[in-house]
Amino acid sequence: MMAVNIERFVSEGKGNGVRALLSIKPGEVIYSCEPFAFCIAKDFLKTTCQSCFKRGESLSRCSQCKTARYCSVQCQKQAWLDHKRECKCLQRLQPRIPTDSVRLVARIIFKLLSQSKSDQEELYSIAEHQSHLDVMSEEKKEGLRHLCTTLQVYLGEENCNLSELPSGLDPISLLARVTCNCFSISDGELQDLGVGLYPSMSLLNHDCRPNCVMIFEGKRLTLRAVKVIRPCEELTISYTDVLAPSEERRSRLQEQYHFLCQCARCTAEDKDCDMLAGETTAWTSLRDALPHLEQLQSEQHWEELLKESQALLLRYADVIPDRNIYVLRLLDLAMDACISLDHYETALEYGNRALGPYKLYFSDPHPSRAVELLRVGKLQHYLGRLKEAHGSFTQAYDIMKVTHGTEHALTNEVSRKLGECQAELGEV
Ligand SMILES: [Zn+2]
Ligand SMILES: [Zn+2]
Ligand SMILES: [Zn+2]
Repeated sequence: MMAVNIERFVSEGKGNGVRALLSIKPGEVIYSCEPFAFCIAKDFLKTTCQSCFKRGESLSRCSQCKTARYCSVQCQKQAWLDHKRECKCLQRLQPRIPTDSVRLVARIIFKLLSQSKSDQEELYSIAEHQSHLDVMSEEKKEGLRHLCTTLQVYLGEENCNLSELPSGLDPISLLARVTCNCFSISDGELQDLGVGLYPSMSLLNHDCRPNCVMIFEGKRLTLRAVKVIRPCEELTISYTDVLAPSEERRSRLQEQYHFLCQCARCTAEDKDCDMLAGETTAWTSLRDALPHLEQLQSEQHWEELLKESQALLLRYADVIPDRNIYVLRLLDLAMDACISLDHYETALEYGNRALGPYKLYFSDPHPSRAVELLRVGKLQHYLGRLKEAHGSFTQAYDIMKVTHGTEHALTNEVSRKLGECQAELGEV
């Protein structure tokens, strides 16, 4: 889709940016595009179609590299052009699979080498992306050099024509560009399944209270407004999880994107007091315990995760309130474990506790709150609490009309659930 209501401009103190030409309403689609290049995250290679991002346990695999998976012959055919040269690289390295950034950069290189000048109609090209190599710490540069060595081994004989790459786009600067310009491609549950480069969207600057949100359907990215945007106003997205106090957000942004966030929320330390409510010594030790629990979650050790998270919830019950973001993260982990172990009553209890804080922190329409409401709604529905479920689905739907639009598969799912609740309520 060509951009008709936006233009590129130089944003004061931030470099390139995008602004509105006309007034834009919440829920309006501003831009929609397919990635220039993308790849599936390593952990999801076995269960995700490499063309349409459909999930499944029984996808068919590429007979040559045995790594790429597809949900249909049609998807496999469609993906072949992007996969052809990568397939040879994967075969050579077997059984090793390089990290996501290496595989993504290889795909970018193949695309750049095969591309004619005429297929570029982007607002912003890869050549213009910043690499930030000049401000990068020696330690980070060392990491990039290491990745670069892996990339060259991975490319192997496909390596020979790297000299034909556009000037300035050598492998190391491409790796650097990818770390600060690509986006995680997430599914309806906001699980990150892959990474992609959407060159025009890299122009968007960050704000901790953005006026736009990015939503994916498969690997297609759609940018929507979540607030009223006036003509000439800058469009912003959030590069980082907003469920974090300003100091944490700022240091993450500095580390990955090399800038100090000066947004209104950071400057005012907005909601930091709520996010860090409770006894400091208690929440710091809780915060330090979270990475271990997240590890248990990613390894799907549900029994252990539930036991440990319940012990922590009990220990801190009287000294840290639920609106403290570390308790909030803990509630989400405990809820996940409960759902996986079929403890639906307890899962709902944790879900209900999380909803208040979610409302506090996501005052603008936000996919995270919609997904939380949907999860709680499904539990209420399953447990026969129809009125409550109807309320949760209605709230989720109202947010998703804005963040996802009425055509999105997830909005349709909520709409279907809402219909079921209504029908069942009618029968009672
Ligand atoms: Zn597919
Ligand atoms: Zn293959
Ligand atoms: Zn900020």
